Amino acid sequence: MMKYVSTRGQAPELNFEEVLLAGLASDGGLYVPKQLPVFSAAEIASWAGLNYAQLAFKIISPFVAGSISDADLTVMIDETYAGFDHSAVAPLKELGTNEWVLELFHGPTLAFKDFALQLLGRLMDHILQKRGEKLVILGATSGDTGSAAIEGCRHSDCVDIFIMHPHNKVSEVQRRQMTCILADNVHNIAISGNFDDCQEMVKASFADQDFLQGRRLGAVNSINWARIMSQIVYYFSASLALGGPLREVSFSVPTGNFGDIFAGYLAKKMGLPIKQLVVATNRNDILHRAISANDMSKSDLKHTLSPSMDIMVSSNFERLLFDLYDRDGAAIDELLTRFKSQGVSLGAQQTEKMQAIFDSASVSDQQTCETISQVHAQTGYLLDPHTAIGVWAGRQLNADQAVPMITLATAHPVKFPEAIVEAGLEPPKLPEHLADLFEREEQFQVLDNDLSKVQQFVMDKLS
Ligand SMILES: *Cc1c(COP(=O)(O)O)cnc(C)c1O
Repeated sequence: MMKYVSTRGQAPELNFEEVLLAGLASDGGLYVPKQLPVFSAAEIASWAGLNYAQLAFKIISPFVAGSISDADLTVMIDETYAGFDHSAVAPLKELGTNEWVLELFHGPTLAFKDFALQLLGRLMDHILQKRGEKLVILGATSGDTGSAAIEGCRHSDCVDIFIMHPHNKVSEVQRRQMTCILADNVHNIAISGNFDDCQEMVKASFADQDFLQGRRLGAVNSINWARIMSQIVYYFSASLALGGPLREVSFSVPTGNFGDIFAGYLAKKMGLPIKQLVVATNRNDILHRAISANDMSKSDLKHTLSPSMDIMVSSNFERLLFDLYDRDGAAIDELLTRFKSQGVSLGAQQTEKMQAIFDSASVSDQQTCETISQVHAQTGYLLDPHTAIGVWAGRQLNADQAVPMITLATAHPVKFPEAIVEAGLEPPKLPEHLADLFEREEQFQVLDNDLSKVQQFVMDKLS
């Protein structure tokens, strides 16, 4: 049975089922496995012939042990990845010599969030049905989490889902993928504020759940461990496709909330030979400053051409800090309580450890557009702006040309026509299942950046 502990050290140890439903730990921390499974090179090599769903089972099953049977897990994984529109699920495309992109946008909402959230919806429904319980989900989105989570939960009888997005700060395609889903259990809220404001209200609601009058609150943001777990799989699939584990590979990861790159860090700890892990940020560069200069201070949030990464406070960084501080929950609590009101820096030892694992870069809108147009001119391949940031950083920081550098292609370019046009190119057409997106009816409520108003809205809708 896998056990989970909180990064703040004060909440009870839980099993997978409880972690899945709890979201944030009761001490304000995030759950992480007490002990990671580690695979030998021989074992990883033996998976070379597996398809994506079979590989996902190998990697995910140790994390859910004791909570979900192998047979049930197999069915849920198979259904999830059968819903992707590419037979390889996460195909690799070659841009140049030892330069690859891993296409993670073949799920129903065209961004990598589908890998975790289409499975998360099924896992939650499975556990809730077994327990005869219901769940209220409150989530914050910088654009892609919301649509993937809504898609994963829209058919559930056990879940009511409320998603906050920053008003006028997500792309129109992103917004419509959420607001055009007119199901009774789906509620979209546009907050007059930014993503960090939305994320902060989610965290505050977990800290004080009285407003729910006894209902249970769940999370779909990457504070939910099940999301991270599902994302570990494609690091393994990409490596295996390029000759791993006998050959090392590197990854460049467009980063916002630090969930996706954290999954890569875990893949490495679980035995996958990864040479470099590149944290690629846009101009909201706190992670780049933290890694390169030990400067973890907030600056004003900037609105960029890669809105899904317009984030200043990256939740999952806490999970890394927990490891860097040798799993000392009290130290993490002290550090992050201080960070709420001021800039902080890490100890010298922690910084050294972090710099041994991660490289980082901050990429401007102009560099993003130049990369989109340059790659298109050279190869005919169209990058979305987030992926372009990863490619730029991967090229800049690649330490060994003999090692494949794989950029995670986190979204389909059709979701971000603004950036494509800015790069001087023709935006691609929406895929068939979304062709009439701009004609569909939308439903959402605009609310002030005010916790009590949001909580009142939630209770009104539930009653
Ligand atoms: C969410 C998202 C990211 C950032 O991923 P994190 O796990 O939050 O670091 C990058 N690109 C796209 C397109 C996204 O939707």
